[in-house]
Amino acid sequence: MTAPEPPLALLAEITHRCPQQCPYCSNPLELNRASDELDTETWLRVLAEAADMGVLQVHFSGGEPTVRKDLEQLVRRAAEVGLYANLITAGVLLDEARITALTEAGLEHVQLSFDDSEERGADRIGNLAGGHRKKIEVARLVRKAGLPLTLNFVMHRHNLHHLEDMIDLAVELDAHRVEVAHVQYYGWALMNRAALMPTRQQLDDAAAIVERARERLKGVLVFDHVIPDYYARRPKACMGGWGRRFVNISPSGKVLPCHAAETITGLDFASVRERSLKDIWESSEAFQRFRGTGWMPEPCRSCDQREIDWGGCRCQAFALTGNAANTDPACEFSAHHAELFALAEAESGAAPPPFIYRRIGAAVQGGDGARRDDETVESRAGARARRPVALP
Ligand code: SF4
Ligand code: SF4
Repeated sequence: MTAPEPPLALLAEITHRCPQQCPYCSNPLELNRASDELDTETWLRVLAEAADMGVLQVHFSGGEPTVRKDLEQLVRRAAEVGLYANLITAGVLLDEARITALTEAGLEHVQLSFDDSEERGADRIGNLAGGHRKKIEVARLVRKAGLPLTLNFVMHRHNLHHLEDMIDLAVELDAHRVEVAHVQYYGWALMNRAALMPTRQQLDDAAAIVERARERLKGVLVFDHVIPDYYARRPKACMGGWGRRFVNISPSGKVLPCHAAETITGLDFASVRERSLKDIWESSEAFQRFRGTGWMPEPCRSCDQREIDWGGCRCQAFALTGNAANTDPACEFSAHHAELFALAEAESGAAPPPFIYRRIGAAVQGGDGARRDDETVESRAGARARRPVALP
C-alpha cells in the first residue's frame, strides 16, 4: 500500500469554549470542556509534526480559539516550523494588544465572522449583547495591524435579506475576501435546521446578489460562495475527499477527516495523545475507511464524478440516512435526494421554531429571548434528534 499524500492544511480546533452561542454552529452536541483540552506542549509537538509531514497551513479555530491564553505560543511555533498561520475567530475577545501580540508571533491572516449587518439581528443570532459592535472594532484593528482580513458570513433564513448590506460592510471594513457560506447542517446546526433553513427563493436571490457584487467589486473584494446542499443537484467534494487534503484535530486531540466526523458513530478516531499525526493520517482505521473510491457503493462506484466529488459528505450521509457509506443525499442520483429537497421546502415554508443556542451542557434560551430553565440542551437536543433530523 502506498502512503497517502500529506494533507495541505491542518484545522486546529484548540477549544470548544466560546462566548457566542450560535445556533448554526457545526461543533458536535457533546462539546469538549476545558479540562478535556490538549495542553500547550502537545499542541507544540503536533504543529512540528504537521510541518514535518508536509502540511502547509494551520487554521486555528474552535470554539473561539482566542479563549486559549497560549494562542500566541502556538502561532509562534507554527511560524517557526514554516506553517502559514490563519486565525478563524468570532473576534469578540480580541483587543489591540492581543492582535499586536499575535501579529508579532507570526499570524498571517484573520477570518472574522459576522452574523448580520445590523446589531440587533447579529447579537440575537450569536446570543451575545455587544458582539456585533466589538467585531466591527476588531475588524478595524486587524487591518490597522496590517493583516489581511476575510469576513465569514454564515447565511440562513434570518439574515439573507441583509446580504447586500453585509457585503457593503465588508467593503467599509477593508476586507480582502468574503465567504458567503450557507449553513451546513451538522452538530448544532442540524438540531436547529428548521429554524435556519432558507427558502429556494432566498437562495436564488442570494446567488444573484453575490454575482452582481462580484462583478461590481472586481479588484476590491474576492467572493467565495458556498451553496447549501439541501437545494443542490450534486454534492460538494467535502473536504476535497475523506483523508485527502485536510486534517482536523479536535480540542481533546482526536484526529478527524473533517470537523463533523465525530458525529458518525461506530468510527474510532485515534488521538495525538497516543500516536503521531503522520501515523494516524497514513494508517488509522477511520482515515482508511472512506479514503479513495474503493469503499463506494453504487451509484458512486460506476459514476464518472467519483474522483471529482468523492461521493459527497460522509457526515451528511450518516445524519440523513443512518449509513455513512451511502451516497450523499445531496446528489440527485441518491435514492434519498427527493426526500431531502421536500424536507428543505417543508421546513423553510413553516414558521421557524426558536433557536436552540449552543452551550456546553447548560440550560438554553430560545431565540425569542425567553429562558427555558426547565429544558436542558440534552433534553431538547435528544427530543429533536429523535424527530425531524433523519430522513423518513
Ligand atoms: S459558530 Fe458561533 S458558537 Fe460556534 S464556535 Fe463559532 S462563534 Fe462560537
Ligand atoms: S453518484 Fe456519487 S460520484 Fe456520482 S455525482 Fe452522485 S455523489 Fe458524486
